[in-house]
Order: sequence, then C-alpha cells, then structure tokens
Amino acid sequence: METDKLFDEYYEKSLMQGGTGCCPGCGGPMFWRMALETLGPNTILYGDGPCAYCAIRNIKLPTFGLHFSFIADGSTGIVAALAAKGRADITVVSSGGDGATGDISFGKVSAAAERNENMIQICIDNEAYMNTGIQKSGLTPYGAWTTTTPLGKEAPKKSIPMIIAQHAVPYVATVSVAYPRDLKAKIKKAMGIKGFKYIHTVMPCPTGWRFNPAKSVEVVRLGVQTWAWPLWEVENGVLKLTLKPKQKPIEEYLKAQGRFRQLSEDQINFVQSEIDTRRKRLLENEGKNIVI
Ligand code: SF4
Repeated sequence: METDKLFDEYYEKSLMQGGTGCCPGCGGPMFWRMALETLGPNTILYGDGPCAYCAIRNIKLPTFGLHFSFIADGSTGIVAALAAKGRADITVVSSGGDGATGDISFGKVSAAAERNENMIQICIDNEAYMNTGIQKSGLTPYGAWTTTTPLGKEAPKKSIPMIIAQHAVPYVATVSVAYPRDLKAKIKKAMGIKGFKYIHTVMPCPTGWRFNPAKSVEVVRLGVQTWAWPLWEVENGVLKLTLKPKQKPIEEYLKAQGRFRQLSEDQINFVQSEIDTRRKRLLENEGKNIVI
C-alpha cells in the first residue's frame, strides 16, 4: 500500500504517466523520464514514430508525432512560430530514431544545424529500424545481426554526432541512460544555449539486441565502459570527454547481446582494434577545437 502511494505521488508530479507502448526493458522510457525531469513543463516535443517516440505518447506536454522523413522540419516551424509570438521561455525538442536522424531525415537535420535553429535535436539510437522489423540502419554497428544483415553488418556505424559537430553548432553531446547525472547535466547545459544543440543517446533495445530485458542498464553501461559508446561533448567546437572509464574488453559488451553471437574471434579482435584507435584519437584531441 505504501508503495502504491509512492507511485501515485511520483506520477502526480512526473511529466510522464505510468506505462508506455514500449517493450519491457526498453531504454526509450528511461531516457525520456530523465530528460523530462530536466526539461520541465515549458517544453514542446516533436518527433518521429515508434520506437523513439513510443515512450512519450503518454506525457503531459504538447507533442507532435510525424513520419521519419520530417525530422527537424516541423520543429523548425514550431521554433519560428514561437519566435513570432515572442515566446523565448519555451524549449523546443525535436527527436528521431537512428533511421530518421542518420538516414531518412539526415539532410533535414543537417539543414537545421546549418541554419543554427534554436532547438535541441535528440537522436534516440537503438541501432536499427526496430519498429518495422529490425532492419539495419546506417547506425547499426559493424558485425550486428539484423533481419537484413543475417550474417552481421559489414559496414561501420555512421558517427552522426561527430558529423553534426562539423556543422559548427554551439553544442553536441553523447549520453547514456546508464549515466543519468551526465545525461541530465548535458540536457541542462543545452537548455541554456541559444541555437542548434544536438544530443545523441544509444538506447538499449532488448528485443532487437537480443538480451534479457532486466539487463538493459548493465548492457549500455558496458557500452560506455568498453568505449564502444564514449561520453563526450563538443562546446563551441572544443572536445571534452565527460567520462574516462578504465577500459573493459569489448568482448564483454558483444557477448552480452545475441545480435553479435555470430562474430568470430578475428572479428572481435577487429572491433577491439577499431575502438582502441577511436579512443586514442578522442584522448589526443581532448581540449582542442575539432571543427575542421
Ligand atoms: S523494439 Fe526495442 S526500441 Fe522498440 S520499443 Fe521494443 S525495446 Fe524499445
């Protein structure tokens, strides 16, 4: 009974109601709960369809949900309307999955970044087109099984946050639901900056990544600890690593997920060497302006 009361009190105050349309263990509701606790009620959300958006159908804020191909377009209109009304007190958040952000609507996200639209663009990256049947996207990592890469993807994951950073926008950051304090601090920072801000989270998807839903946070934490998903920010062009964990072998992250089960030892060694190279490059460039 006491627990029920605590839940009732929490959901009374929370901008998200209990229950979502997502699978158990999905990282989407985790991300939005943390994000909304930081963004607060003066927020308008705009985003594409499931899965990135499934978690925010039941929130107590104005939301607009459109197709994959309109990411950053509609939110540009909302920003313009608010500016015309002189409403500087509202944060416009535009979100898309990896397919929308990195493939289908990439040109639109890039154009909004080029125009330096005053919005926070968020990529909720579950590393495949999960809602249409687990097909690979440009952000599916090397070696991952999907229904269109049954033997594992051969190409690497597109580094969309680094590509957006090259647009010379004021703020770009990577986050993880396994590190809520870092996630919330970056959203808060983005809220205080005028212009285009880009935040990218890899979101655990037990259904498509093939692991026990109870292990969601553990799996994405391993992504950060192995440096498969390093946490960094680029503010006015300058790179900063916001967490430098002691590096764990990538094997721990790969073996925790069924989608990588077909990888040979040679392929695992290849992934490790790619990560080591990227980690070295990040560490070498920390504190430097990386917009070239
Ligand atoms: S398929 Fe994956 S991303 Fe989509 S709702 Fe289920 S767990 Fe979340």
